Amino acid sequence: MRTVVCAEPGHMTLEQRDSPSCGAEEALLRIRRIGVCGTDIHAYGGNQPYFSYPRVLGHELAGEIVEVGSEGDPDLVGKRAYVIPYLHCGECRACRHGRTNCCQRMQVIGVHRDGGMCDTWRCPSII
Ligand SMILES: [Zn+2]
Ligand SMILES: [Zn+2]
Repeated sequence: MRTVVCAEPGHMTLEQRDSPSCGAEEALLRIRRIGVCGTDIHAYGGNQPYFSYPRVLGHELAGEIVEVGSEGDPDLVGKRAYVIPYLHCGECRACRHGRTNCCQRMQVIGVHRDGGMCDTWRCPSII
């Protein structure tokens, strides 16, 4: 599949990568729309804190669910979906108190882990 990679500040590449497989609690999303915001601009410019390269950008994502894992609802296949790009650990003090937006190990898709500038993206969970 096509994947856009920010290889280093100021340099984007188009790569061919293997399509992702779908884990039990995951879904595959065919990306249809991507927003580009200041985070992406700063990452490209090399002045985004806590950023490492190479990285697949893209955290404002919408698309179509094309596969769900064995723990997912098969009726979701074919539905449109958007992505909440913040991943919380579920174990830290903030998470245990229901304040997942304050997670001590928060990860942002397209920042701390590869994002959705690709044909098909593996979504870690479905709400
Ligand atoms: Zn953004
Ligand atoms: Zn947490």
